[in-house]
Amino acid sequence: MSPAQIEQEYDAVIVGAGAAGLSAVLGLLERSGPNHKPKLLVISKLQALRSHTGSAEGGIAASLGNEEHDDWHWHYFDTVKGGDWLVDQDAAKILAQEARQTVIGLEHSGVAFSRRDNGHISQRKFGGHTSEYGAQPVKRAAYAADRIGHQILTSLWQQCLAQGVSFAEEWYVSDLVLSPARDRVEGLVAIDMHSGNVHAVRSKQIILCTGGAGRLFHTTSNSWDLTGDGMSAALCTGLELKDLEFIQFHPTGLGHTGFLLSEAARGEGGILRNSKGHAFMADYAPEHRDLAARDVVSRAIMSQVDQGLGIVDPAEPEGRADCVWLDLTSISPKTMAAKLPQVDETIRMYAGLDPAVDLIPVKPTAHYMMGGIPTTTDGQVYRLNDGERQVVEGLYAAGECACVGVHGANRLGGNSLLDACLFGRRAGQSAAEYLHNYTESKSELQELELAQACSNRREYIQELLSSASKPPTASESPASRALNAYQLLERLGQLMDETLSVRCNAEGMESALSELEHEIIPTAQALQVSDPSPRLNQELSALLEVQGLVQVAQAVLKASLARQESRGSLYRSDYPKRDDEHFLQHSLTNRNGQVDWQPVHIVDFPPKTRGY
Ligand SMILES: Cc1cc2nc3c(=O)[nH]c(=O)nc-3n(C[C@H](O)[C@H](O)[C@H](O)COP(=O)(O)OP(=O)(O)OC[C@H]3O[C@@H](n4cnc5c(N)ncnc54)[C@H](O)[C@@H]3O)c2cc1C
Repeated sequence: MSPAQIEQEYDAVIVGAGAAGLSAVLGLLERSGPNHKPKLLVISKLQALRSHTGSAEGGIAASLGNEEHDDWHWHYFDTVKGGDWLVDQDAAKILAQEARQTVIGLEHSGVAFSRRDNGHISQRKFGGHTSEYGAQPVKRAAYAADRIGHQILTSLWQQCLAQGVSFAEEWYVSDLVLSPARDRVEGLVAIDMHSGNVHAVRSKQIILCTGGAGRLFHTTSNSWDLTGDGMSAALCTGLELKDLEFIQFHPTGLGHTGFLLSEAARGEGGILRNSKGHAFMADYAPEHRDLAARDVVSRAIMSQVDQGLGIVDPAEPEGRADCVWLDLTSISPKTMAAKLPQVDETIRMYAGLDPAVDLIPVKPTAHYMMGGIPTTTDGQVYRLNDGERQVVEGLYAAGECACVGVHGANRLGGNSLLDACLFGRRAGQSAAEYLHNYTESKSELQELELAQACSNRREYIQELLSSASKPPTASESPASRALNAYQLLERLGQLMDETLSVRCNAEGMESALSELEHEIIPTAQALQVSDPSPRLNQELSALLEVQGLVQVAQAVLKASLARQESRGSLYRSDYPKRDDEHFLQHSLTNRNGQVDWQPVHIVDFPPKTRGY
């Protein structure tokens, strides 16, 4: 097959249309100025408004001080402490300092925040956010009932439309292409899912904003698209991923579904109870109780379950007693309707319970990846070159797929929307500056790299579609057929749930790695599709997603094994203590599972022991 022609060229391509991607677009346009309109394209495998940002419920953190006195220094400190001191403090300082202007900027973009009687933006308590450096909880999360993500996503999207930004929706980015020396971005390969056509897209810059990888787990609050595509694309090009071992489990997933019941429910007075009705958080975190950091609450729930004090989800009477109760009965129906309509609806619709009178079964659910593609505070992606950071020219990342280091080993509620909007915008701004100083150095060799990647992908897809097998007939035993992408995803999710959910140890992880490397990865590589159509072939995108996800799973397990301590969201029962002497470092894991270490940027707060 002859190499594909370069079909399209852009100044910048933004992959992902969630809070991070759209903020990056707006940052880029804003910094470029009205007289230098760059040629931009936003590629999204979903329609923009289906991005997971739209499901964020509780709020976005900023020390606005609208409800009670607050100070960005306290927000900065809480973020560092909440991240169990693995936070890069230069980045966290920017996060806390620029949070106010980010939220005000969102308000000016059209976000309809809930309001106080005096017209100011309302704020609520969220776990780990305090005043006076940990003295007492503070209301810091700005909210729009419990639908903040929907508000942010639609407002940013409308701003992009107003500026005439082009979107390639339902295009799937399958490959990222760097220069042969891996020091500069060349372009990407994307599949237009409507037609099945494979495109080589050359761009001076690429901003990856592809979201998290919660679908590594079966029990997760994440939507089906969160399959870590940007992370696996980075791994495949030879880049490392940072701090992958830190995965946040949200304490209150709705029993059998894993759907999120926002932390706002506890912020408004919800209380966790064990099978005896005891409000057990007082025993684990006497000061902050139900609003302690998420890792603390998730581990407390698991410890209650281990002590036989869990409850069986009424929806699964044959299941294990692996849930506890969330008691929302003290919240008035009026508050429920005004502040927690999404929580109320989720409980009624998916559990058939009435939160005004019933106790709600909950258990920890995989929620957020603290780690990802390593970036500077300006969103530039870097790789390790002889142990030193080297920026990849023209490549940026932001949002949940990236790791700028603000969340360390555990992020605080409300800080990820802030991270996505704030560092997304900064990535866009630094892309505008790069463009301003850009000098063309296009070489034929580099074009060939991209063209080759595109024709390899085309060939692979053509082969898959032309050898598409028919689905199993009713009389055929499913076991006689190879697994399909959906079954493999299920198997991967169960394995990761069993191995890494809230706690882990070397024995479990080694056995999971062995199954992954000997069975799951080879199966993923040999997957086939049963539908031969190139058009809107969801089986094809599911196949590509699971092929990437297994690579991320391998890197997650390798990084978790390498970190022989417990910190933040990572609890290793074989190394139950934090070990600052050896592990006050970021992990950087490559596609071969090799783990390198980089120092944490400590600026103002030297590490303290747990509970400080
Ligand atoms: C249920 C839920 C509730 C939450 N609540 C809160 C909250 O209250 N406060 C808070 O701060 N955080 C919250 N979070 C976390 C926060 O919402 C996310 O971390 C944040 O929105 C991520 O934004 P993003 O732009 O990085 O990614 P996303 O919004 O996930 O967007 C990813 C984009 O990448 C695109 N994409 C992915 N792969 C490809 C590919 N291969 N090709 C092309 N496009 C691709 C997708 O189409 C999508 O547009 C919540 C998360 C969940 C799951």
